[in-house]
Amino acid sequence: MEDSRKRNMQMQENFKELSPAEVLVKLQRGNARFWTGCASRPEASAFERRAMIMQQFPSTAILGCSDSRVPVEVVFDQGLGDMFVVRVAGNSLDTSTTASLQYAVKHLSVKVLMVMGHEGCGAIKAAGLPIAQIEQEPQELANALKMLKRGLDEQRLKNVHDARAYDREAVITNVRRQVEGLCRDAAIMKKVQNEELIVVGCFYEISSGIVDFFMEVTEAPTAAAEPHLVMRGVHSGVQSRMEYHVDQTPKADCEGSEQGVIFKRQVSFTPPAPDSAPVKPSEGDGIHMRYAKALA
Ligand SMILES: [Zn+2]
Repeated sequence: MEDSRKRNMQMQENFKELSPAEVLVKLQRGNARFWTGCASRPEASAFERRAMIMQQFPSTAILGCSDSRVPVEVVFDQGLGDMFVVRVAGNSLDTSTTASLQYAVKHLSVKVLMVMGHEGCGAIKAAGLPIAQIEQEPQELANALKMLKRGLDEQRLKNVHDARAYDREAVITNVRRQVEGLCRDAAIMKKVQNEELIVVGCFYEISSGIVDFFMEVTEAPTAAAEPHLVMRGVHSGVQSRMEYHVDQTPKADCEGSEQGVIFKRQVSFTPPAPDSAPVKPSEGDGIHMRYAKALA
């Protein structure tokens, strides 16, 4: 029991030492292990589990989708106690999901708060259906889909004709809406301003296994004198891609090979097609969305 207590204290120390940026890098490395086939599948021993009984120290809280193909701990190669996970169809905020995330931020002091959408999200596809069709669903499901639909900016999406691009844009738009929702929480934004918390939006590509962190909420450079932060316009057709350079370590030597994975961010902006609607800054207030913050 004494050993378990010591181990629990050590977990607490390890948690305290990590900065939000380091937590984010840890997640990115975990995802790189996953999609390169080098996942470590960390499973705590019985001793470790006993140590966890006393207290949890997750460094990340995530709002993800219930979809069976997107189990977040697997995708980020994380273990027991690492992530505080809220999963609901369409990864959207409502009373209980917001409350759970607020708990994680306030009482568990998570350092990364993440909203993750994913390729081929059935909930987002269904939210794009005509209202009459949505209303044929059971009432609660229909209400949830209508709520998602309101955030989709369907007028803008009409200009995206490629099916795969539409899918991605719709999912990304929804992630952005949920991140904006989180940013209306003054306590969350205070932590962001104090650099105690990073809030990110990301897109999980089922086919490749890659998580693309396409947005980060951060303090605007000029906001020092402002009581709130500034929202930048969100460009239509924005694409960002984290580039991974993986060394040629043979798969058999995968263990611990995360050292061989170098993370570099690259952002590309695809100009809106000539026939697309003018790009409007997203509504919302006080948020500066910085795309693809460079990671050291
Ligand atoms: Zn989904």
